[in-house]
Amino acid sequence: RAKASGTERICYYDETLDDAIRAQRRMIDEMRHAIANDEFELHYQAQVRLPDEEIDGYEALVRWRHPTRGLVAPNDFIPAAEQTGLIVRLGEWILRTACTEASRWANALPVAVNISPVQLADPHFVSKVKETLRTTGMDPSRLELEVTESCFIGDNPWANPALQELKSLGIAISMDDFGTGYSSLAMLNSFPFDKIKLDKSLIDQVHANPKAKSIVRAVMSLGDALDVPILAEGVEIVEQLDYLRAEGCSLVQGYYYGKPGRLTVADASAGEPSKSGLSGPARPAAAG
Ligand code: C2E
Ligand code: MG
Ligand code: MG
Ligand code: MG
Repeated sequence: RAKASGTERICYYDETLDDAIRAQRRMIDEMRHAIANDEFELHYQAQVRLPDEEIDGYEALVRWRHPTRGLVAPNDFIPAAEQTGLIVRLGEWILRTACTEASRWANALPVAVNISPVQLADPHFVSKVKETLRTTGMDPSRLELEVTESCFIGDNPWANPALQELKSLGIAISMDDFGTGYSSLAMLNSFPFDKIKLDKSLIDQVHANPKAKSIVRAVMSLGDALDVPILAEGVEIVEQLDYLRAEGCSLVQGYYYGKPGRLTVADASAGEPSKSGLSGPARPAAAG
């Protein structure tokens, strides 16, 4: 142990580490309880088709309605859930809930569910997805799974065959956060993705920065060449939308159209999906 050196400085680091481990342990206990106690909920964000601006589907994004801390964002608890493996159980809840809720939407639009690399490393993942489809009655062609390239790297030889099998059931597979990793192009070559989601970090500057413009343009032509639709993530302002539109981008998602929100049966069956319970401008006048 580092404490052997006996300096206060090193003891201080040790205590910090202990505190961090204790805090994570507490959080994991709380999350276990939260799963049993139904404290998680799914919010949905619209994915919008261009040029017509119709809603093409929704992405499910998990939140934790914590009894004292309020609504907790996924970045504050997914990493701990991944490190401890609890994401497998939480992920099962997420998939089951997304399928249950979406199968009640009268508009019958697709739902996209984020899948952690840890879930994909579970050898029972495919059979769990099949079982969820069966028990919820969800149409597999309305389900989309979003994976990141970290699902493929590392020692998970069955990620690719697992996704192939899910695809053969009619489930769509999207590459999420494209442009943030170091081997995305190799991933595109090794798996027939149904959609590529271009990361928000590349969209942020697309209206202002010539380099960002060039990169986005290149990705659009890559999508054309591979015949895979590109979805631009995190579109917030009309200037970004204008550029994406001009480059022939076919799908966009972001606060410009609406923040993730609860989507009730009534919302989704109202026959007017663009007003479906999402906060923010569902269809701003500026978009025309
Ligand atoms: P992601 O899958 O890339 O999801 C997009 C994130 O960007 C979401 O954050 C969404 O709310 C946010 N976003 C969308 N449009 C905009 C915009 O215009 N501006 C800004 N500033 N943000 C925007 P969120 O919900 O906090 O989720 C963060 C990440 O947590 C997700 O990134 C995903 O990696 C993970 N996550 C969320 N839900 C789940 C889940 O159910 N399962 C798993 N495994 N991971 C999840
Ligand atoms: Mg996603
Ligand atoms: Mg993303
Ligand atoms: Mg992500």
